[in-house]
Amino acid sequence: MPPYDVIVIGLGGMGSAAAYRLARRGRRVLGLERFTPVHTHGSSHGGSRITRQAYFEDPAYVPLLLRAHELWLEVERDSGRHILRLTGGLMIGSPGSRTVAGSVASARQWDLPHDLLDAGEIRRRFPTMRPAPGEVALYEPNAGLVVPEESVAAHLDLAARAGADLRFGQRVRSWSALGDGSGVRVETAEAVHTAERLVVCPGAWAPEMLADIGVPFTVERQVQYWFAPRGGVEPFRADHHPIYVWERGGRQCYGFPALGRPEDGVKVAFFRGGRTCTPDTIDRTVHPEEVAAIAEFAGAAIPDLPGTFLRAATCMYTNTPDEHFVIGIHPEHHQVTVACGFSGHGFKFVPVVGEILADLALDGGTRHPVALFDPKRAFTG
Ligand SMILES: Cc1cc2nc3c(=O)[nH]c(=O)nc-3n(C[C@H](O)[C@H](O)[C@H](O)COP(=O)(O)OP(=O)(O)OC[C@H]3O[C@@H](n4cnc5c(N)ncnc54)[C@H](O)[C@@H]3O)c2cc1C
Repeated sequence: MPPYDVIVIGLGGMGSAAAYRLARRGRRVLGLERFTPVHTHGSSHGGSRITRQAYFEDPAYVPLLLRAHELWLEVERDSGRHILRLTGGLMIGSPGSRTVAGSVASARQWDLPHDLLDAGEIRRRFPTMRPAPGEVALYEPNAGLVVPEESVAAHLDLAARAGADLRFGQRVRSWSALGDGSGVRVETAEAVHTAERLVVCPGAWAPEMLADIGVPFTVERQVQYWFAPRGGVEPFRADHHPIYVWERGGRQCYGFPALGRPEDGVKVAFFRGGRTCTPDTIDRTVHPEEVAAIAEFAGAAIPDLPGTFLRAATCMYTNTPDEHFVIGIHPEHHQVTVACGFSGHGFKFVPVVGEILADLALDGGTRHPVALFDPKRAFTG
């Protein structure tokens, strides 16, 4: 019998959650991560990630979001870490924009609590925001943010407590499924490991680690920006300035309330539209013209936000052509489960993805609706 039941490659957002759910089900788990615990080289850093339920991307995500919400609370309770903060959320744009119309469709289909606000109501309730006449918003009370670093740390702690063997500074060079259909072999610079099953959560390294599943991934460079607002951070605290996604002229920007000390500033970013890169070639320098572009876009909507630029950090999206995730059993190897292609919107799902991966790896199926994420679907974009 191999020494492990399951090997998990990649202990970032998704892999940390998978390792925990597998270990909690009593399996002998080996987790392999090329960097240190909670690092800034992948996709799970920057202090905040939006979570929302009236999902404009597709109503099919809503049951997963409801389950993720329950699991965030459970993970917080079990780890003693503070991960989830509900601030409410505004999805703003023209009534026909994807951000507004898609959110309204999800809210109605799933009967989610929400308010529809016109431009005057947005200004009255949220004085930092300056919608144009004709812009509207869906406000939902159950939106907010999760802290990615706390999530990864919590899942790693809980996985270790449940008996998982987590190893860092271990870059996986290759993996293979054994020919007789039962077992896998994973090679690092230091050792060769074997197990019954494999779960691969490689983030932006999916194009190299999972080239054989045939999904045309594109890795996209994204930048998160922090500004000290004109007039100070107090008007930007969560009770007046919730998370938001704002669509104008076909572009979306999103942002957060002031979370920490005044000098930490307020975070804002563009959603999508970044340059294609790889984890090796990504330009980690943020250029003045990029800061000027976000200051102009965000400043037109939230005039006091781009006071003084404080700092920025790069990050990567791993996109699929249809921007839906890839979660499922490997098309050729039933003992291998994959989770990747989160296309810039995966973090809010972390704990439920962990649960799904444990279901798929151990039981070969899951009660959760995952048809949208089939690795074998046709990628038409
Ligand atoms: C700027 C930015 C903003 C975002 N905002 C949001 C948001 O507001 N809401 C939201 O829901 N989502 C958001 N996302 C998306 C979300 O953060 C990602 O979908 C999520 O972090 C992906 O997690 P992951 O586990 O796939 O990747 P990662 O957390 O990067 O984990 C992959 C891990 O695999 C490891 N690895 C790779 N190759 C190897 C190897 N050969 N050997 C060993 N280990 C390996 C890596 O080191 C890494 O730790 C955002 C992403 C970015 C970049």
